[in-house]
Formats: sequence, structure tokens, C-alpha cells
Amino acid sequence: MWAPFISLLATGEGTKLNEDYIKWLTGLGGARLDRCCGWTPIRDLDDKALVAAVRVFEDARKFQGLLGRAVQQLVVNWENTMGVRAPQKTWMGALLLKMNKVWPRFRVHIHSGISWTGAPLLRQETRFSLSRQFQEDLSVGKWQVRQSDLLNSRPRESQHDFFLFHLIQVLGSNRLRGKISLNEQIQASETLESPIFPKLPTVNTESFRVLLRTLAGLEDYARVNSHAPTRRQIHPKLHNSTWDRSCLYCFYNHQQHFVDSEWHSFFECPLIQNPRREFILLTRLESIFENGSSVENLALLIARVREDQRLLNALARFALQVREHREKWFWQLSSEAMKQSLARKLENLMYFCL
Ligand SMILES: [Zn+2]
Repeated sequence: MWAPFISLLATGEGTKLNEDYIKWLTGLGGARLDRCCGWTPIRDLDDKALVAAVRVFEDARKFQGLLGRAVQQLVVNWENTMGVRAPQKTWMGALLLKMNKVWPRFRVHIHSGISWTGAPLLRQETRFSLSRQFQEDLSVGKWQVRQSDLLNSRPRESQHDFFLFHLIQVLGSNRLRGKISLNEQIQASETLESPIFPKLPTVNTESFRVLLRTLAGLEDYARVNSHAPTRRQIHPKLHNSTWDRSCLYCFYNHQQHFVDSEWHSFFECPLIQNPRREFILLTRLESIFENGSSVENLALLIARVREDQRLLNALARFALQVREHREKWFWQLSSEAMKQSLARKLENLMYFCL
């Protein structure tokens, strides 16, 4: 009976395993665990363990017998520890502590068989099952808390979550957008219930991971990392440059300043011209691309493709091509000749600015 969620009580052990598992699945290594939630319907191991424990109540009520008697005993053990020693050290106490965060008034009764109160009306979508309903409410609750925290923190352009902040606004209600523009406090219940991508795409895993990393702000873009640490070591002049957040391709080839961002790459950088043309030909989404490069436009693109398997597959492949083109360009830029040429261009610019 303890087995399904014993890892939750161990100091860190279970949770660390879960963290590695989720980061590996989503490709969001390097991010905090709460930043991995909400992108896809993937459920984490800790939640699955908790849901398995909740299912024990359902099975005990249905099959009664030995399982029913065991649950009755566990409830009695918990009741007997009240006021005597830490009730959360009992199975029932540990479970209720977690469950009550989702359903604050949930209680189990044992006087005439197993029954419970404080659970919401079970919905058809969750097949009228207590554990499925709990699973649904648990993951939606976590995602909504994550969103309200993010929306209330109003991230700046140099922060990872800047794009997600705009995406939630585009996907949210008019009321939500109104409150954000008035700088009002956002409640968790006012945010999205469904994940960003309600169904997993059928494209290869690596492409989808790169797309998720790009949207989560974890790919290598200077808007966040100012070309540190690798490119600053290769091109030391970037240290002193006011253009240290610039797209180096546009700077090197056209002496133009664009902040090196995901939306600049996806919508306008000439480095990505060929994959972009292919993507537009394949998806017929030119209307979105005609509006130019902005964080809002990238959010609109995601809103358009998120529930369409074919378009989402194409976008994930495009995201992988964007990364490959950028990596190839940075590699070329690290050759001795181009390194010196970039240094000269940066030097001339600094001289010009003085
Ligand atoms: Zn560029």
C-alpha cells in the first residue's frame, strides 16, 4: 500500500528521479521542474504515484474484502495518531496532506463501507473515476499556479519565460489580457486549463524537444545569454560591445542590429531564409509571416499550429533546422579568418560610436 507513493516521502530521492525523467522526456534539461509543466500532457512520476494511491479508495469501495479492511485500518491508524504524534507519518495522513492541496475538503469515511466526501462531481471525460478526476485536477492545478506566478512576475525580454508570458496571453481570454494590461493581480483560476500542446506530435522526438526548448527560452539565443559563455570566449571583443545581444549574422553581413531572439530567427533573419521558405510552402501560413518579426507573432504562430498535428510536425522540424543553421553559422564564425574579421568590425563600430 505504501509502495505507490513511498518515494514522495523519501528525502529528495523520488523527486530527483522524477525530475530527471521529466527533463529527459521534454528535453528541458537545465530548467526548474515547474518550468517543464504545461507544455504537453505528459504526467510526472510523482503525480502518477499519488494517483495510484488515490485509486486504492476506489478499489476498496468496489471490491471491499481484504483491501476494504486494510483501508479501514489505515484510516483508524490515522485517526488514532491525531493529537498524539505526527499524523502525516501514517499512510492516510501522508496521502491527505497531498490530496488536500487539490481537494481541500476531501475525507474518507469507514462507518458503512468505504465512502468519501469533498471530491468534486466526477466528470464523464474522466470516466467518472475518482483517481482520474484527481489526476486531471492535480495537473491542471499545477499548470495554473505556474501560469499565474509567471503572469504576475511580468518577465522582461532578457528572461527565459518572456515568450511563454506572451503565449499565455494570446491563448487566454480577453478578460485575462485586460487584467494584464491594467497590471492587475492574476488568479490561478483565470488561466488556461489545457496544456500548450494538448496532443503529442508524431514528428521525431529530437525535433519536438528542440521546439519545446526554443519556446521555453532554453536554446542558445543572445537575448538571454548575451553570447556567453562560449562565443564570448571565442570573440572577446563581444565583452565590451554594446551589440552583445545582437544577431551576429545580421551584424557581420549587413551591419544591422537585431536582438538575437527566437522570433528574429523564425521570422526575419536571412540566415534561416531557405528553411523558412520551405516551411511556408508546406504549411501555407504566409499570412502570419507577412506580419514581420515580433514575440506576439511567434505566439500567434504557436496558437495556430498547436492543435493541428501536421502543422505542429512541420514547425518542430523547422525548429530543428533553425538550430542546425545557427550552429553551423557559429562554427563558421569561429574560424580564424572570420574571428579576426568580426573583431575588426566590432572595433570599427566602437571607434565610430566614440
Ligand atoms: Zn539575424
